[in-house]
Amino acid sequence: MLTSDLAFSGGSHLLSRRAVMRARASSINHPEARFLAFWRGRPLVDDRGLCWLRRDHAILANRDSTLYLGDLSDKPRFACLIPHGQWAREGMVGVQFQDIENAEFVSLRSVMGRMTAEDGELAAVAQSLLNWHQTHTFCPNCGHRTQFTCEGWQRHCPHCHTEHFCRINPVVIMLVVHQDNLLLGRASVWPEGMHSLLAGFIEAGETVEAAVARETFEEAGVRVRNVKYVASQPWPFPASLMIGCHAEAINSHINIDTHELESAVWVSRQRTRAIILNRDGDILPPRKGSIAEFMIHLWLDRQTPP
Ligand SMILES: [Zn+2]
Repeated sequence: MLTSDLAFSGGSHLLSRRAVMRARASSINHPEARFLAFWRGRPLVDDRGLCWLRRDHAILANRDSTLYLGDLSDKPRFACLIPHGQWAREGMVGVQFQDIENAEFVSLRSVMGRMTAEDGELAAVAQSLLNWHQTHTFCPNCGHRTQFTCEGWQRHCPHCHTEHFCRINPVVIMLVVHQDNLLLGRASVWPEGMHSLLAGFIEAGETVEAAVARETFEEAGVRVRNVKYVASQPWPFPASLMIGCHAEAINSHINIDTHELESAVWVSRQRTRAIILNRDGDILPPRKGSIAEFMIHLWLDRQTPP
């Protein structure tokens, strides 16, 4: 399995973020500039994936908060918000545009498994930054209203002159193994039957290894050792970084925290193979494109740390 199967993880070799350019007059008028529209927190998508529009497209007429994502093959890419009240609750249903067909605003989660690596990275940047702008309009230092600056990568407080940046929240996600069994759990809010790897936010002053051990014990009552890093994935819901680790369980007895999990179960390698192919019947796999799915494939292919 290649890393391109991991949604949102295109890597900087694909997108030139050109941080140095962000404070300058933007390349918004470049003839190859393309725009990704978001409406009510959802990107515009068509049958092929993200719908990249020209600057003069009618959908963008009332755009707001245009941010510069970077250059892809020397072509500038932007994301922008379409005002909340632009369409009725159903979105663009019934609105016809000559050059796009079957386009609609859908949740990024629902298309993450079928985006190209390039689109995945661009969508993650856009979704994280737009979420941030919508929820950080006041300065936490002095309470004054902040301003959108640096082409969307910063917010500036004109009162106390503090510069604010989008904070990324680190989350550990654990491939916990006991002998030849894998620990899967499910939260009650997930789609029916879906199970995944355990995960949790890293707390202040905590290492990655300590967070893996604490979260696994708190959620499932399982003690672990030999925590090793496997892979990471930007997770723009709203702005996290998933840090995937392998850990060896010391005990197999499960004692779940019912506030966190609905259930947790050890699953054999053979059954895990059936689950990931969606052939189990009872347990459904994690979302396609998620780091949980990616790491489970690595384990099945015996590519995780011993
Ligand atoms: Zn301030």
